[in-house]
Amino acid sequence: MIIDTHAHLSDEKFDADRDTVIERAFNAGVERIIEISCEPRYWDKALELSKRDNIFVAFGIHPNDVKKVSGKDYQKLETLIQEKRCIAVGEIGLDYHYGSFSKTITLQKESFARQLGFAIKYNKPVTIHSRDANDDMITFLESYKSIPKGVIHCFSGTPQQAKQVVSLGFFLGIDGPVTYKKSDNLKQTVLEVDINKLLIETDCPYLAPQKYRGQRNEPSYIIETLKEIAAIKNISFEEAAKITTQNTIKLFNL
Ligand SMILES: [Zn+2]
Repeated sequence: MIIDTHAHLSDEKFDADRDTVIERAFNAGVERIIEISCEPRYWDKALELSKRDNIFVAFGIHPNDVKKVSGKDYQKLETLIQEKRCIAVGEIGLDYHYGSFSKTITLQKESFARQLGFAIKYNKPVTIHSRDANDDMITFLESYKSIPKGVIHCFSGTPQQAKQVVSLGFFLGIDGPVTYKKSDNLKQTVLEVDINKLLIETDCPYLAPQKYRGQRNEPSYIIETLKEIAAIKNISFEEAAKITTQNTIKLFNL
């Protein structure tokens, strides 16, 4: 069994052929999909989607959206997190990628802390977004006496940072970029980190693997990421699928 642990199928880019995309995933051996719904405008759509067989959902407020949301959104989020099919809070975290990020750092940290609070209160794992913010992220997480379990989604730090987050108890989400020729750092991370700490994800419609680079990504393409992990770890595809799936089931209580 293969599980795409991070998809954004509610995105408009799937409006024209969502059912076909999901069917293609199931036909390719992807048996479960976790829909990540981190913008309030997609929440209702994602909740509907999660009522289908083998699709689960995570709700959260993305760090790039912290200025757009209101207290009401947080109230609604808290309700959504209690939904049966909601298996995690996410994606939440810190994003220092864009030029104006310094203006929202305080707000990003407040929002992140508030949502970590929901995860603790409702005993759900977290899917963490950390873009160009890994050192701050590690310091932030270290400041918690007890942090929820979770995954650093689309990990893009150094092997050293990877080991730090793993020692905090987190899994690493590995995406399509591991298949890119220039992703030496990420390949090295996959090589060095225990496979029992790796999850696979597409982050579709973004980050298509090399074979489909430049195109819309979709859950069936996760096979390419898994192939690359198997090659780096020098194990069979089946073994890589089995272990990463076991990791997923363990983390998200599926
Ligand atoms: Zn994402």
